[in-house]
Amino acid sequence: MSRPRKPEDPIRWPVPCNRCGQHHQTVARWPDGGVCGYCYQQAKRTRGVCACGHEGVLPGLIDAQPACRRCSGIRLNVDCRSCGAEDELHSGGRCWTCVLGHAVDNLLTDPATGSVSNDLIPLAAALKSMKRANSGLTWIRQKHVTAFLRSLATAPAITHETFDGLPESRTREYVRGLLIEHGVLPRRDELRMRYDSWAAQALERVSDLQNREVIRRYIRWHHQRRMNHMDEVSRGTFLRAKQEVTVAIDLLNWLTGQGIKLPELQQSHLDVWQAEGPTTRRIAERFLKWAIKIKAAPAGLAILPHRRGTSPKLDKTRQDRTKR
Ligand SMILES: [Zn+2]
Ligand SMILES: [Zn+2]
Ligand SMILES: [Zn+2]
Repeated sequence: MSRPRKPEDPIRWPVPCNRCGQHHQTVARWPDGGVCGYCYQQAKRTRGVCACGHEGVLPGLIDAQPACRRCSGIRLNVDCRSCGAEDELHSGGRCWTCVLGHAVDNLLTDPATGSVSNDLIPLAAALKSMKRANSGLTWIRQKHVTAFLRSLATAPAITHETFDGLPESRTREYVRGLLIEHGVLPRRDELRMRYDSWAAQALERVSDLQNREVIRRYIRWHHQRRMNHMDEVSRGTFLRAKQEVTVAIDLLNWLTGQGIKLPELQQSHLDVWQAEGPTTRRIAERFLKWAIKIKAAPAGLAILPHRRGTSPKLDKTRQDRTKR
């Protein structure tokens, strides 16, 4: 909070500050003596209950205890012009909270209607009541936050789909969270949504179009179908579903690289693929079982445990490589 102090200058400022005893420029003469800029700043920010019972800014110092303006006789403007509160003023005679409130209204007002849409009023209230108005103001004044709130102000409707359509950012998710917290947006299954958008991108990685269709069906009818039957998708389910599809894509792309179609898959192919890669490849077992069940792959194939490095098809160097 407090700024780093400049070194003292006893030649320029021979009379030390009455409060801190250091040689800095005196910026105010208060009944208890001259105060330097640092002590002045600190005094404006001192809040509490004075011995007289007054609660607010206590810039004075009586018997080493903070005291209100009346008791200490200090004249200092800490009265907000907008809300009348006694507080440190930010600009235009307004306190930080009022300046923040003004900025929020300004950003969330739809220029077409000149007012904040009903949907956004709870958000405005939440943003205005941020505990630390000064950090709130710093946050809101960042370019990307300003731009995001402006785009929200003119959005035709506040729905999850509206949010999905805006550029992805932490700000977007933070504001979405606030709207959910205040009941403007319904809770939704974030991991299920994330899985859907992840899966759409994962499909792009399948090099062969026929295989892509197989993976699309695998995602749709195996993973997404299961997720839709859950009340909430757990982090474990989410990660496993991602890993199972990733490994399946890895297998299919490898087959494509070898010029092998999935219906022509043989056990020896599987053994080589499994032996060549990390142990996580055995996760492909789930995909394989599914592919056999829907008759996309020949029956009788299996991903076997402890298969790694034992395939007779591997030459010595390959085996060495896989052991690392
Ligand atoms: Zn001082
Ligand atoms: Zn007092
Ligand atoms: Zn105010």
